[in-house]
Amino acid sequence: MKYFPIIGLEIHVQLDTKTKLFCSCNNESFGIEPNTNICPLCSGQPGTLPVMNKQAVNYAIKAGLAMNCEINKHTKWDRKSYFYPDLPKGYQISQFDQPIDKDGFIEIFLPADASAMAGEGKDSLVSKKIRLERAHLEEDAGKSVHDRSIEYTYLDYNRCGTPLLEIVSKPDMISSTEAELYAREIRRRMRYAEVSRCDMEKGHMRFDINVNLKVEKDNGEFVYTPIAEVKNLNSFKSLVKAVEYEIIRQQEEFEKTGIVKTDGNKTTRLWNDNKGATAQMRTKEEAADYRYFPDPDIMPVIISDEWIEDIRKTLPEMPSVRFNRYLGLGLSKTVSYYVVDNIVLANYLDDCLSLIGDKQDLQKEFLNWFGRDLLSQINQTSEEGEDTNIVIKITKEDFVGLVELVINKKITRNLAKDFLIEMWDNGKKLEELKSTIPNETINIDEVINKVITNNQNMLEQYKAGNEKVFNVFVGLTMKETKGLVDPTAIQNKLKEILSK
Ligand code: ZN
Ligand code: MN
Repeated sequence: MKYFPIIGLEIHVQLDTKTKLFCSCNNESFGIEPNTNICPLCSGQPGTLPVMNKQAVNYAIKAGLAMNCEINKHTKWDRKSYFYPDLPKGYQISQFDQPIDKDGFIEIFLPADASAMAGEGKDSLVSKKIRLERAHLEEDAGKSVHDRSIEYTYLDYNRCGTPLLEIVSKPDMISSTEAELYAREIRRRMRYAEVSRCDMEKGHMRFDINVNLKVEKDNGEFVYTPIAEVKNLNSFKSLVKAVEYEIIRQQEEFEKTGIVKTDGNKTTRLWNDNKGATAQMRTKEEAADYRYFPDPDIMPVIISDEWIEDIRKTLPEMPSVRFNRYLGLGLSKTVSYYVVDNIVLANYLDDCLSLIGDKQDLQKEFLNWFGRDLLSQINQTSEEGEDTNIVIKITKEDFVGLVELVINKKITRNLAKDFLIEMWDNGKKLEELKSTIPNETINIDEVINKVITNNQNMLEQYKAGNEKVFNVFVGLTMKETKGLVDPTAIQNKLKEILSK
């Protein structure tokens, strides 16, 4: 038997509006005292009337455009009824049959190993389209706090009414790698569109995965295992682990029981990070269980072409376009991929490029310094985590200026590296460092002759065939010239003089 995983993702992204979706409470309440950021509306008091936050609709449209979605011209609000202590109203305001965004797609780039699996060369990046079914706006619920007491569950309603965009993919992914790449690309696009900070640690982005297996039997027949939905994964790491766990679990389960997918046997499971396993929570509610119906308190939203076009104008260049532009400039795939993943770094690079303008030589040398030296400084100082917080400790003017000094042969590459580290570690400005460059031009012949004269015994050894001495001469000369002369130039000159 052969097994083919089928994976779809639902991603909840917290939109970065000032206020909540239907009231004027502050949207960000991470880390503040429980139940201090609520009002009669978002705490679900009877008789209150919701007022739609237009910014949230703007963001939902912008996010939709960033994911190549079609925007529904007529969109409305529906009540999704269920009881849970953290949902005081007894229903969630969501969108059922008319989501703001529908029928989109994004591209993911498979890294070298996955591309190799797809039959491509080792260095290639293969792109794959993942289709989006829809993205709709809805309000978040509060939080149940279970770990404060053995006897009680505490409730914090601060998060109630926070605007979420729920992004639903088609089941187009076949591995944990693809699922992770997809989730990362969604995060990049939300960040590029500036609709969410997608800070994982603050729960701005949560994943639900839908996994099952297509089973090819030995007689060529196909069947499917029951779909399992694993809810509320809040890191890329647990997303990957949960997908991998489900693939193995379902295969084992199928081999034991032979149970196949039916209309009613979808289950909901919870991921336990400590155990590295999922456990069944309940059999999944069907849409009918939620008794969706249009919310009579909120008007539908009619979205005009003009409204959409106005928002389209504010969209920045998307990551995949940017990625290809960087490749075109001559940056490697690895570097381009890394840069595109970090909007701060990508913007820094673009700012530097516009400072450089059309100076081709400078641009070429700059890209070397950027891809090699600057990134290695960043890697040494940035904290690796779910979110790499990149700090660039050199202004773009100073960095471009430094490379300009190299291009104009004012300093050697070695000295430029020292300058880079001085600026990075000690906050020195390029202007200060420039004043330490000696003015006099160095007569390299003179220095080499002096070094040789002072080390006659080494000269004898060299003439007797000890070639190691050559490097000692290079070292001594570099020391004398304080690193201001290029090592290759010293080597060439030394060879010339010693061969006389
Ligand atoms: Zn409120
Ligand atoms: Mn949802």
